[in-house]
Amino acid sequence: MSQGTLFIVSAPSGAGKTSLVRELIESLDGIQVSVSHTTRAQRQGEVNGVNYHFVDVPGFEAMIERGEFFEHAKVFDNYYGTSRRAVQTILDAGQDVILEIDWQGARQVRIQMPEAVSIFILPPSRSELERRLASRGTDEHAVIAQRMCEAVNEMSHYDEYAYLVVNDDFTTALQELQSLVISRRLTLACMQCHHAPLLAALLSPEPGVE
Ligand code: 5GP
Repeated sequence: MSQGTLFIVSAPSGAGKTSLVRELIESLDGIQVSVSHTTRAQRQGEVNGVNYHFVDVPGFEAMIERGEFFEHAKVFDNYYGTSRRAVQTILDAGQDVILEIDWQGARQVRIQMPEAVSIFILPPSRSELERRLASRGTDEHAVIAQRMCEAVNEMSHYDEYAYLVVNDDFTTALQELQSLVISRRLTLACMQCHHAPLLAALLSPEPGVE
């Protein structure tokens, strides 16, 4: 069975990562998003098992002890992690998988899987990022400043990624993400995996072999 490709997608909050990834997997076959585990509180509208697997701190720490995480990190005082088994199951089924994770998790994945494709999504400008962060719930200046500070910290790691996408126009950014997935699928290594019977038949010296 051919292996799928692992894509890492990181971005500061406010860059539009979640919406872009949602559209990406709806627009292409054979690609799924990995559902992370987290200890942060469930937000309104979020569904356990769909947006995240919501677990408590002792439960998360027990999973760390048992080595169940492919990567994990503390982000904004909460634990987040990717289940090793869940990702491997998707890849073994020949499907591509997207990890929506922060820069700390991305580093851990790159070490274990250097062939993973890493993509960083940037907002189009600082003022637009500020505007998007300000429109999330509270208008309190200190809260917005804190979110901005966290966003700048995440963005400071942009050069650890192989690809950069600027989310100015949503459709353009989506097309760029689609191109990255499709071009990866057309690489020699992926094509050899996915089209082994075709290549064998095309190169067979015997006539009529399909
Ligand atoms: P939020 O709580 O807003 O959904 O996510 C906060 C941050 O946690 C985002 O930067 C997101 O990419 C990151 N994150 C979500 N899931 C994971 C994960 O499984 N591992 C790591 N390392 N970061 C994650």
